[in-house]
Amino acid sequence: MRIVLLGAPGSGKGTQSQRLVERVGIPQISTGDLLREAVARGTELGRQAKEAMDSGRLVEDSLVLGMIRERLGEPDARRGFILDGFPRNLAQAHALDRLLEALKQPLDAVVQLEVDSRELVRRIAGRRSCADCGRVFNLLTSPPSGARAVCPKTGAPHRLMQRPDDNEATVAERLRVYDEKTRPLIDFYRARGLLQVIDAEAAVDEVTARLAQALRVPALRAPKRAAGARRGAAKRARKPAKKKAAATAKRTRASRASPKRRSTRTRRAKAPRAGAVRGARRRKSTRR
Ligand code: ADP
Repeated sequence: MRIVLLGAPGSGKGTQSQRLVERVGIPQISTGDLLREAVARGTELGRQAKEAMDSGRLVEDSLVLGMIRERLGEPDARRGFILDGFPRNLAQAHALDRLLEALKQPLDAVVQLEVDSRELVRRIAGRRSCADCGRVFNLLTSPPSGARAVCPKTGAPHRLMQRPDDNEATVAERLRVYDEKTRPLIDFYRARGLLQVIDAEAAVDEVTARLAQALRVPALRAPKRAAGARRGAAKRARKPAKKKAAATAKRTRASRASPKRRSTRTRRAKAPRAGAVRGARRRKSTRR
């Protein structure tokens, strides 16, 4: 599945992309993250991008396109991808069209996350991300808690940082640039019959559910499995097709008949476990 998430800064593209990654097992490709990484590593690309990023302007198309071309050519992107923060203007959208045409991998959907501008500013003020694993939180709406309080990279509590461009002046410019350059993409993709708009001014879980519905992704509603369950999946994958179908039917009947079992699944879905991404990836490749 090849998806573009469109939306203003603070609309939740990053958060929802990460949730899609965990559940569908396709990579998130965030030009913002790639550029921040280049800045942090002090590469030539990072050096050239930094000034535009710090002042809330768009980084030059040629730099971003080179980066995207390279990233889409990596093996994991062949399974599909979620583009987050790209394309951001019409020139980039046309370039993406050409690139995907050459790769024979057309987009399946473009989802616009719609949020009122006052809410955007409020969200950006509360936004923090973990310096180690990059997971995005919001102090007001989705602070780290429960299983999500521990960084999967360090095993310690997340080290929360505020992005340098999440200050008031830069945010105002980013919102202006969004209206001028990125908003026209809504009509561009609507005209191609790819656009879905969802009201993203709701709790994070609710937006994920709306996104799942828009993308018709049943896997989004499925539980994330613990290691034991993954071993079960591997065993089932080794069973001959007939036995496998019978086992699936039995499980479906059992889960219909037993509400208790269903609620266990729901709880699992709410409490992500480390390794869920790997599990999802493995499931995906088993399916092919
Ligand atoms: P947000 O969507 O919250 O504004 P991002 O992390 O997507 O944040 O982007 C941060 C900054 O990186 C942008 O303000 C811009 O300077 C730069 N950037 C990201 N993606 C692009 C892009 N596709 N084209 C040009 N610049 C980009």
